[in-house]
Amino acid sequence: MFNHKKTDIAVLGAGPVGLIAAHALADRNIDYVLFDREQRTNIHSYALALHPETLELLDSFGLAERILENSLQLPTVSIYEDDHPKATLDYTRLPLKYPFLTVISQGELEGILVDSLKKKSYKPLWNHRVRFIEEHADVLNIAVDRLSEGMTGYAVAHIETQIDKILDYQANYIIGADGHESVARRSAGIDFPEVSPSTDYAVFEFKTDAELPNEMRLIIKDNKTHVYWPLPNGHCRWSFQVDHGEASNHSRKKDHKFNPFNNSSPPLLDREQLDTFLAENAAWFKGSVEDLSWRMLVNFEHHLANSFGKDRIWLAGDSAHMTPHAGILSMNVGMREAVDLVDILSMSDTHLGRQKALADYNEQRLAEWQRLLDLDHHIYAVDQTARWALGHRNSLIGNIPASGETLSELLAQLHLIDAA
Ligand SMILES: Cc1cc2nc3c(=O)[nH]c(=O)nc-3n(C[C@H](O)[C@H](O)[C@H](O)COP(=O)(O)OP(=O)(O)OC[C@H]3O[C@@H](n4cnc5c(N)ncnc54)[C@H](O)[C@@H]3O)c2cc1C
Repeated sequence: MFNHKKTDIAVLGAGPVGLIAAHALADRNIDYVLFDREQRTNIHSYALALHPETLELLDSFGLAERILENSLQLPTVSIYEDDHPKATLDYTRLPLKYPFLTVISQGELEGILVDSLKKKSYKPLWNHRVRFIEEHADVLNIAVDRLSEGMTGYAVAHIETQIDKILDYQANYIIGADGHESVARRSAGIDFPEVSPSTDYAVFEFKTDAELPNEMRLIIKDNKTHVYWPLPNGHCRWSFQVDHGEASNHSRKKDHKFNPFNNSSPPLLDREQLDTFLAENAAWFKGSVEDLSWRMLVNFEHHLANSFGKDRIWLAGDSAHMTPHAGILSMNVGMREAVDLVDILSMSDTHLGRQKALADYNEQRLAEWQRLLDLDHHIYAVDQTARWALGHRNSLIGNIPASGETLSELLAQLHLIDAA
């Protein structure tokens, strides 16, 4: 290997979690590099909502205004049983600076984060794929493939990614924000066990002429949970839970290029099937379906790392947790984890000085996720309303878009007591 480069912190992954880490590092004048194996940000909604605390965090980086201009604000989440509203979670009743959910596509959020990083004269190293990490005494050696695209093939030419150089970096620490297949996590030898069964969803986004209810809806029907989100500009997202095994395990590959629709999509994503899903699960929705811009079958796995880091490699975001999709927990809490890590790393110049704070980071994160996913069953019911909610714990736990005190207060609106 050649081209030996040194940096204090290497951030792996320029998703929302890595990008916010980069902002925090830039603001604290810490030397860092941000690698991503892709050539640009995502293009879809994916995790499409910011919790009130996340918007406050982004506000501390001067980004709230721009995000608010490009988003919808939802003051409530309604929980439906079949076609009937059963309960409402009202953010406006809470003492929050931003008492609402902010709906913005993940691609748009990442675009804003990249843009504002550029104004601070930083940019991600796109097309840089971390191949492996080795710890040597008091430094990390990181082998990075620099990628480029080239035409290959004789009979049918196609574009293929190629390695044009292998770069050798040295860093004092790694922030592993490199998603669920994390190289950082694997290099640190950290297990990533499943904490609850995965769920399969058929996801559709389209434009409609309906007056869209300005709230997120969780629809509980039979043993399934479906989700409705209004999106900006008359669009909406629907996620219909389908039988286990319908989506492939590799469905969480993200799109970084615009792919035209083809007609070879599975029957569960057919236009007729969408009409059936809507008729069966949301009789209240009477609008048209136009401009069906995105549809996919996704298998949402639920995993939690058994440690948030070791020695010089630390994790934030999907590299450490994958959670039920409606709560958008992994991205929102992950962004806060990234900023916490940067705070710890900027606290002291010595490894010894940072070690205790990093150990606390690990313990606090594990405790927080135990609570968020109710892994130790600390939520209990006090009356009939709460017993109904608790009877649907698989639909609700991890699917309420909130964390911390806000989650406790929203659970209290369902008469549920959070005894953690
Ligand atoms: C189809 C789909 C639908 C989703 N829907 C929802 C949803 O409804 N609700 C929800 O909460 N979440 C959803 N998610 C998950 C959501 O996108 C993640 O929780 C969120 O992106 C986590 O952010 P992150 O920054 O931790 O990881 P990511 O956004 O995954 O970012 C990781 C980054 O690391 C880069 N990377 C990975 N390996 C390497 C390497 N070796 N070297 C360099 N770079 C690397 C990747 O290119 C990527 O850019 C969905 C995801 C997918 C794919």
